[in-house]
Amino acid sequence: MNVPNNIIFRKVKMSPENTKQLYEKYPLIFGQKDLDMRQTAMCWGFECGNGWYTIINEICANIQNHIDNKNDSIKYKKERGELPADAPSYPQIEATQVKEKFGGLRFYTNYSDEYIDGVIAMAESMSLKTCEQCGNPGNDESDGYWISTLCEPCREEDKKRWQKREEEAKKLLTVKMNDVTVAP
Ligand SMILES: [Zn+2]
Repeated sequence: MNVPNNIIFRKVKMSPENTKQLYEKYPLIFGQKDLDMRQTAMCWGFECGNGWYTIINEICANIQNHIDNKNDSIKYKKERGELPADAPSYPQIEATQVKEKFGGLRFYTNYSDEYIDGVIAMAESMSLKTCEQCGNPGNDESDGYWISTLCEPCREEDKKRWQKREEEAKKLLTVKMNDVTVAP
């Protein structure tokens, strides 16, 4: 089977600055960021480009608001005696993996409800219309073996970058082949 190297090397990561901001804004949702790879995929950080920062931020803002509102309501009902004092609080969801797949954002959690499922579905659908690199309007498109969602200028840049890498890889391979030929 002929698997193009691009598939292996074309991993995109969010910048450390944006990653830090999301961790700091939503410490409860990203409570798994320091666990190891046997327990969570959040240890890899955000496996997508900076262009989806706003989408991820909106997912988290909506989810955390939803959980906080549920807990405010539980607290209020306890105060009014409508719920027993030991009634459990609403579960805090945690992200287990955030990544790009088939050109779209994937946001996996350890728990969800209908509202959270809706927020995530909407966000994933928006990601297919948002350039993963710069956040401008974009489209999902395949270049033969890789689907990505980019705007036109970023797609051109991306093509150039990968062509250059492929040429460099070919040159390296040629040098190695020459080494083999001259070896005794
Ligand atoms: Zn772009």
